[in-house]
Amino acid sequence: MAHGLEELRRSLLRIDGRGYKAYGEVRGRWEHEDLALHVDHVQGDPFAAPSQLRLRVPHATSGLPRELFGTPVRRMALADALARRAARVAGGGRRRGSGKSGVVSVDAGGQEVLERTAVAIDDGWVELRLQVGLPAAGRRVLGRAAAELLCDELPELAASALHWENLSREDICAFVDCVDNQEHLRAQLTHAGLIAFVADGSILPRESGASDRPLARECATPFVAPEALSVELELAHPLAGPDGPRTTLRGLGIRCGITLIVGGGYHGKSTLLRALERCVYPHVPGDGREWCVSDLALVKVRAEDGRRVEQVDISAFIGELPQGRSTQGFCSDDASGSTSQAANIVEALELGASGLLLDEDTSATNFMVRDARMQALVAKAHEPITPFLERVKEIHEVHGVSTVLVMGGCGDYFDVADRVIAMREFLPEDATAEAHRIAAAAPSGRTREASHALRAITPRCPIAESLDASRGRRDVKIDVRERDLLAFGEHSIDLRGVEQLLDRSQTRAVGFALHLAATRWMADGRSLCEIVDEIEALFDSEGLDGLDPRRRGERHPGNFARPRRFEIAAAINRLRSVRMRQLATVS
Ligand code: ADP
Ligand code: MG
Repeated sequence: MAHGLEELRRSLLRIDGRGYKAYGEVRGRWEHEDLALHVDHVQGDPFAAPSQLRLRVPHATSGLPRELFGTPVRRMALADALARRAARVAGGGRRRGSGKSGVVSVDAGGQEVLERTAVAIDDGWVELRLQVGLPAAGRRVLGRAAAELLCDELPELAASALHWENLSREDICAFVDCVDNQEHLRAQLTHAGLIAFVADGSILPRESGASDRPLARECATPFVAPEALSVELELAHPLAGPDGPRTTLRGLGIRCGITLIVGGGYHGKSTLLRALERCVYPHVPGDGREWCVSDLALVKVRAEDGRRVEQVDISAFIGELPQGRSTQGFCSDDASGSTSQAANIVEALELGASGLLLDEDTSATNFMVRDARMQALVAKAHEPITPFLERVKEIHEVHGVSTVLVMGGCGDYFDVADRVIAMREFLPEDATAEAHRIAAAAPSGRTREASHALRAITPRCPIAESLDASRGRRDVKIDVRERDLLAFGEHSIDLRGVEQLLDRSQTRAVGFALHLAATRWMADGRSLCEIVDEIEALFDSEGLDGLDPRRRGERHPGNFARPRRFEIAAAINRLRSVRMRQLATVS
């Protein structure tokens, strides 16, 4: 039975001055006209994680036009836009008392548009999920302040963030169309033989190393594709342009195969690669990258010394190690630059990457190259590494996986590159013919060293008991303070090397996905890849709401964002307790 908001007000006034636990009495559903306020979870004290509340409005009241949420992509985009609006209106709340008293937060996103749980849109209603600090003085309930917050301010927030009449309609429509267009562009990539597209006019550089916002227009050189590498893709919704509405976009098409990005230092190579990494997700209008799209399965791989590696077959890259250690089931608690980069590549292939993105800035040199002179000095018998240079073509031929590589320092890659993009003063040029001419005129002189052909990837099965989310008396203890640090049970998972994990709320979802997977899908010998398939199937059918095991009846997960399969697996691979078993492959 739901009660009226006025009853809630009376209850809050009644518990004024009592111990904080008294807030437990207001748990439940409260209604006023068409608005329902759900108090799902009440924090234990003013300093604990904030309480979780929901505001639900039926569409009869919200007036949100159906065409803005008629497809999954548009629904995701609209939910994202509403969450941003709500976060702006709430403004973090107003401090009124001790600890988190008065804090109101909405988990809205940054430059990327992600599927998230802050706003849910159903066919019949829209719901805003909030984290709220219930007001207290010391540990005593501030009933009057709470009544003001819950009974007056939250209904106002619902109206200004969820009612169509109060929204800036043009902006919201433009936002939804923009995201829809990006997914429409992305859907054309495969058919066009591309793995990525960067539209002319894009602004790729960021404001600073600490900010993800675009560099000011007057300081940035807008991107323009050279004629030879340009393609045109079609838009789903026309864009207003100076010469009338446009229905196509011109830009750089990065084809399947091996693409090298060369150029002098500080000429914009890494900035272009970074855009390819990020554009697996749509961007907000005005980001500068909102007309750039990458195939969803492009994976950045880098050297990551110190990471843990469990049962990965890296023998394609690293032969027998000192002391006769095999690398077919390589394990390490402290991998080196080259072995960690090899493991990162093999794990990406295991999960079904369509392309690898590598930057010389974050690669291990000895993993990338071994030139003729070094071959002459250090005999192959003493060098376990087969450099990436010798495998990159096979990775494409055998696994169908493309590579985009930033490499300003080594011309040996000219031999294997299908295309060479030269960055000059932040603008791309087609240097393919020139690079191939140079490669023919001045051979590298190196001899091939790979001892065997590239083999199929050996699937691995994680062992359920090795993923334990419990800590102390808590069965499930999963905390995320930083995007790149996930506390999972007794362990912390270091995700600093997982560069395409972008949002703290994705990290949180990864944590809960690991726990769910361990309890549901790891018992009967499924491979890591199949387990991640199950997680993605759950996301597709139930959304991210399906993740939180504590949710039922009690909580709402208002702060999850959807991670990709690669980032989920990356966390499992980096969990220091995890144990895996290799599955025999039929050869
Ligand atoms: P590289 O990898 O070639 O050494 P970076 O991509 O790191 O170069 O870029 C060097 C600097 O130039 C960075 O500070 C970056 O933000 C800036 N930059 C990159 N592209 C542009 C651009 N199109 N316009 C203006 N500045 C840019
Ligand atoms: Mg660089």
